[in-house]
Amino acid sequence: MSIKIESKITAYEVAKPEDEAKKESNVTAIAPLLERDDILVGQTYKIKTPHSEHAMYITINDVIVNHGEASEHRRPFEIFINTKNMEHFMWIVTLTRIISAIFRKGGDITFLVEELKAVFDPRGGYYKKGGKYMPSIVAEIGEVIQKHLVSIGMMEGQLQTEELIAKRAEAEEKLGKEGVANGAQCDKCSAMAVVRLDNCNCCLECGDSKCG
Ligand SMILES: [Zn+2]
Repeated sequence: MSIKIESKITAYEVAKPEDEAKKESNVTAIAPLLERDDILVGQTYKIKTPHSEHAMYITINDVIVNHGEASEHRRPFEIFINTKNMEHFMWIVTLTRIISAIFRKGGDITFLVEELKAVFDPRGGYYKKGGKYMPSIVAEIGEVIQKHLVSIGMMEGQLQTEELIAKRAEAEEKLGKEGVANGAQCDKCSAMAVVRLDNCNCCLECGDSKCG
């Protein structure tokens, strides 16, 4: 590396090797980022919201970590979102860059799902095909990431305890599909799945229950 000297030299000092060593020891080691292979496997998910006439295509590519070892597993490396809708272009680029950067840092990334799913659109949410309420497009992107993490075994899907399965059946019988779809938001898991059953507010997603 060369440095251009712009001002007049008035004094000088010869750098000693130990000064260099001191400088180097100030460097804090950070965990290495995940490395990208030339070819990645991935999945593309389509989401279509009533807020926009164009669909969104979300691609999540994975890397294989610890290839050939017993601990070999897939984990997401990057996310791309394609849409013809230019209205959202700037924040989508921002979001995909930040999410990809978090993917590459490694470690636990499931918190991303909770954060995104808790985002509300002040203009109001919408119902997906099948009746599930989405509080915003961002929340649906969170849901897509969750679906992907479940598919590669990094996250548990919908809890399937006997108690919850029974509660879901009971809720559908008493409140109907419409009533179940109109659940309130859960304080614990952020799902729009809290319904009133037997004088209790019960979340059909995580089982959290408050009675009285
Ligand atoms: Zn819940």
